[in-house]
Amino acid sequence: MTDALVEAIAAEIVDRLALEDIGISAAEIVDVIRPIVESIADQYSSRPSKEQILNRILRHQDKLLEIIAAYLLETREEINEMQLEFVVYNSSPQVVARYIQRLYELAKRLGREDLIEILRSKWLESGYATPYQCPVCGFYALTPEFTCIVCGAEVDEDDYKEFIGFNELLSQFASESSVEDIMDVLAEKRIAYDGSRLLPPSKASRNMMFFKLDEKEIKALEETLARKKGAMRHGV
Ligand SMILES: [Zn+2]
Repeated sequence: MTDALVEAIAAEIVDRLALEDIGISAAEIVDVIRPIVESIADQYSSRPSKEQILNRILRHQDKLLEIIAAYLLETREEINEMQLEFVVYNSSPQVVARYIQRLYELAKRLGREDLIEILRSKWLESGYATPYQCPVCGFYALTPEFTCIVCGAEVDEDDYKEFIGFNELLSQFASESSVEDIMDVLAEKRIAYDGSRLLPPSKASRNMMFFKLDEKEIKALEETLARKKGAMRHGV
């Protein structure tokens, strides 16, 4: 593989994909595509032409754009709005997850809610999302310790109860649960949350969010428990 050939292919790619608009030079693309060009060339028994290699690369344009987006994030300490757009549109969910704080912060500073929306959905696909939506940034990125991985917010436990409609969830839990499960919650004075419903501590899995119950909530559960026990005694 001659340098001249790789350089010619790089120049063509920069041109066709308008990479100069996002501040990437042909010299940089040479580094990015060299391993790709070499692996393509290895698959031919005789030396492939520039057009053959170029066509192969451009046939997987999405993959190439993904690699260039990751390259931009790795090599630039700061990126401008146009580069941000390119990166948000073309990055894989895994790369989005790796740089999420930086991408979110910049998109927010620039007031680009449209890009934040794309980041939210790629974040969900990345496998790093939690079951808990952050009330500040809207990403599913709140940890069971009430800290947001994306925006860094530290959410107050009572505020989060309010955000998820805890009262409603608790009365639902009370009416649907067995006497044993309610007693389990009352014994621990706390209840687990899986992101959609409340569970007794004995049925919680590791890394689930827990809420402490206040006096009013404990009283409400005790009343339900007394009713359910009474109903059991009367065979209802
Ligand atoms: Zn957040």
